Amino acid sequence: MNTMENSTWRVPAADIFAARVILAILILLGLSSTCEAQGGGVGLGSLEDLTLKLVDLNAQRLAGTQSNDSQLLSELQTLAATRQQQLAALAESNPGEILRVSLRANIRKAFPASVQALLEEEVEAEGLLEVAVEDREKESRLHFSLQSGGERLRLNFAADPPVHLLTGSRIRVHGVRVGNELALSSGTSTSSLQSVAPATLLSTLGVFNTLVIMVNFQDQPTAQPFTSTAVQDVVFNQTSAWDLENSFQNTSLTGNVAGWFTIGVNSTSCDTGTIKADAQAAAQSAGYTLANYSRFIYLMSSNSGCSAWWGWATIGGSDVWINGMFQFAAHVVAHEMGHNFGLYHSHTVDCGTAVVCGSGTFSEYGDWIDVMGAPSFTQAGHFNSFQKERLGWLNSGSEPPITTVTSSGTYQIGPYEGQNSVVKALKILQSSTSSSYYYVEYRQPVGFDSFVSGDSDILGGVVVHLASPSNSNSSDLLDMTPSSPSSFNHPALVVGQSYKDSTAGVTITPISASSTGASVQVTFGSSTVPTPPTNLTVIVQ
Ligand SMILES: [Zn+2]
Repeated sequence: MNTMENSTWRVPAADIFAARVILAILILLGLSSTCEAQGGGVGLGSLEDLTLKLVDLNAQRLAGTQSNDSQLLSELQTLAATRQQQLAALAESNPGEILRVSLRANIRKAFPASVQALLEEEVEAEGLLEVAVEDREKESRLHFSLQSGGERLRLNFAADPPVHLLTGSRIRVHGVRVGNELALSSGTSTSSLQSVAPATLLSTLGVFNTLVIMVNFQDQPTAQPFTSTAVQDVVFNQTSAWDLENSFQNTSLTGNVAGWFTIGVNSTSCDTGTIKADAQAAAQSAGYTLANYSRFIYLMSSNSGCSAWWGWATIGGSDVWINGMFQFAAHVVAHEMGHNFGLYHSHTVDCGTAVVCGSGTFSEYGDWIDVMGAPSFTQAGHFNSFQKERLGWLNSGSEPPITTVTSSGTYQIGPYEGQNSVVKALKILQSSTSSSYYYVEYRQPVGFDSFVSGDSDILGGVVVHLASPSNSNSSDLLDMTPSSPSSFNHPALVVGQSYKDSTAGVTITPISASSTGASVQVTFGSSTVPTPPTNLTVIVQ
């Protein structure tokens, strides 16, 4: 990957000789062939050509080899505008390319002012970060933006997006700006991003006063796909009950449903910032005091401009957008508000016949028993214990505990959904290098988890996740019987089976499961596997 340091041009000259030197360097570096090899995208070859032409033409202008200055200037402006469009089009898909071809400041300065205005620029900026997730059917996209000095810059990272930061963090960034797009080398490198102040500590407990604002669009002003009563029920009865059960009675929703309002945006436009601003303005005009609410849901009538996604939410922060062309249901609201609480998705990695692997087939929403996974299901499964631990809904204050297991023994866990203070999960170190842990739960068909009633494996065993508390986007449901077909549908380790992680030197064996809980033997050291109850299958990783 290119860094800004080695990807920009350093030749300190602004005459025709310098331009020739630059061309020679480019050819030596073989950049054109690299671009063409990447091919297929947004005409990278022509972007390279445009850059060369632009620099060469300006060198000719400076050298005075052409008499018709105004025609030359016009040609430069046209070239620069075309090139700017091409760069902006690359911002989201290939920000590294912007860094690679960007003109260094001394080259940029050699252009006339009217052309400079069309050229990318190396900039530093400080402001408040917004992290948002766009929920598509099978995948998701992260969007980062910076609110700085009255303007909003979109942040595009060539590598390692900063998933360690939440909406509201104050940051300083350094990158290459094209219009309102900023290309940055890496979200984890201090040369492109520095944290100035963390986001205000998120509240995840208590009663959240929520305003649902229903909006339709100026080209479809009569569209009202949901009644206010139905929306009220989904958010303030069903989702609030889901939050109460998941948080062991400590978090719930209250609030109002406003609208329908027709906003000055077409249904083919998908600018979430404008939709939010217009929706809030409409609600305010109708008499709602926005300052009274800590959460906002912008429920749109069908928006074809946003047809790629069914939900959009800030990670941390307080805003949720739901596209009414898809479903509006409690599991959708619980999922999106989970993002507001700071959660990322609950994934799976298919490792073939292994349970855990370095790289496998990744599924963004693969964890079908957790509402932060599986959006295509209609169930609203409990957040898994890693996610609840992040929220302080487990193992914090008066919330039920998680037992961190550090020595061999037999440990009890209660039914995960039980509204009581018994231990809800075991946490067992898997790798001190990655600080990852096995999280062991006993899921039962109770309350919002009733949908697992058809899975005898889950009912008769324990469900195991692997995640790292130091990485908020690391939750993976494990398939404890990887050799059986479609086995992510039956992910549990049932009584009678053992799971041995030879590398970690740990063996996990559920030895009983009943309505009151599960008993799980954990053995450290490679020498012994616990005495099996019956029908032991040893799964060796
Ligand atoms: Zn999501």
